[in-house]
Amino acid sequence: MDKDYYGILGVKKDATDAEIKSAYRNLAKQYHPDKFSTASESEKKSAEEKFKDINQAYSVLSDKEKRTNYDNYGSEDGPMGGGFGGGYGAGGFGGGFDDIFSNIFSAFGGGGRRGYRDNRVDGDDITMELVLTFREAAFGCEKEITINRNEECKDCKGTGAKDGTKLKTCSRCNGTGTILTVQNTPFGRIQNSQVCPECRGTGKIIEEQCPTCRGRGFTRQRRTVKITVPAGVDNGQMMTYYNEGEAGKNGGKKGNLIIILSVKAHPVFKRRGSDLLLEMPITFTQAALGAKVDIPTLNEPVSYQIPECTQTGTMFRIKGKGLKYLKKEQYGDLYVTVTVETPKGLNKEQKEQLKKLGESLAQNQSPKQKSYYDSLRNL
Ligand SMILES: [Zn+2]
Ligand SMILES: [Zn+2]
Repeated sequence: MDKDYYGILGVKKDATDAEIKSAYRNLAKQYHPDKFSTASESEKKSAEEKFKDINQAYSVLSDKEKRTNYDNYGSEDGPMGGGFGGGYGAGGFGGGFDDIFSNIFSAFGGGGRRGYRDNRVDGDDITMELVLTFREAAFGCEKEITINRNEECKDCKGTGAKDGTKLKTCSRCNGTGTILTVQNTPFGRIQNSQVCPECRGTGKIIEEQCPTCRGRGFTRQRRTVKITVPAGVDNGQMMTYYNEGEAGKNGGKKGNLIIILSVKAHPVFKRRGSDLLLEMPITFTQAALGAKVDIPTLNEPVSYQIPECTQTGTMFRIKGKGLKYLKKEQYGDLYVTVTVETPKGLNKEQKEQLKKLGESLAQNQSPKQKSYYDSLRNL
């Protein structure tokens, strides 16, 4: 059973050709890969899937015979369509389907990874998330990650042909790897060269498949890659390891390995660029009289003199005790914001002492409160 093509294009089952064409045009514009060149990898992927679905739906519903088959049998291939099922499914749509995708691509003047004129296909990138602790991000670290990727088959050097056996020239394309086709699109009849479905563009037919890779030219390998994380990286940053992604096909480039860093929060420190932020409670007495306190840093604590009469919310800067800048030998600062804590569980004697203290304080010794009441009076 094929997909719900009417649903994909958002049209009714009895839609006219014009309605289908117009729905297709709008959606193709909306989801065209060019629109997603700056989007995130996952947004790109889902837009690409959507774009493919839209094109697939249109290629069936715009073709009278295919549409009738689809309406009657749920498959563009008619009653036999289901029988070929998984194995030939994509093939039924034509050595087709990817080619339509790339043709529409070029019709829009797009480019991308499939920009070769021959049958080379670059390998896909592999994207992995690497979780780091706050300290690992701050100081850098070495990590090992394990990936599964396609690598060129060693036994056939990527040709897909059994060792020692020859490749014969493809008779369908006479070894050129491409065939000329005429395609009806909303932009008119377009004649273009398509990758030969018989030889998949190689121009050659494998007589005896390589048993190691079953003719695919690559094998799936599990690899451990050492990742060197530099000091000062931040959450969401990416590291690219060139040519460590999936193998290309027919001489296409290898993809890259893209590591997306996910840095865990620290229980005490927050981060703003290369600066560290810390909130520290101090006692009422420390705030009033001033005090030498130990301030934690990512390394050894530093001793710091809090001046007398420090208020809640005061921020102190401790130079050079932040994080290392990613690309220079320089460090950010540590900003400490203090909170004055009112003492709890006062006994009778302590209360008496505080009461006396309170009575001895003049109004101008609490300037904030004084100006607050002054401003209320002026309302
Ligand atoms: Zn092989
Ligand atoms: Zn061919």
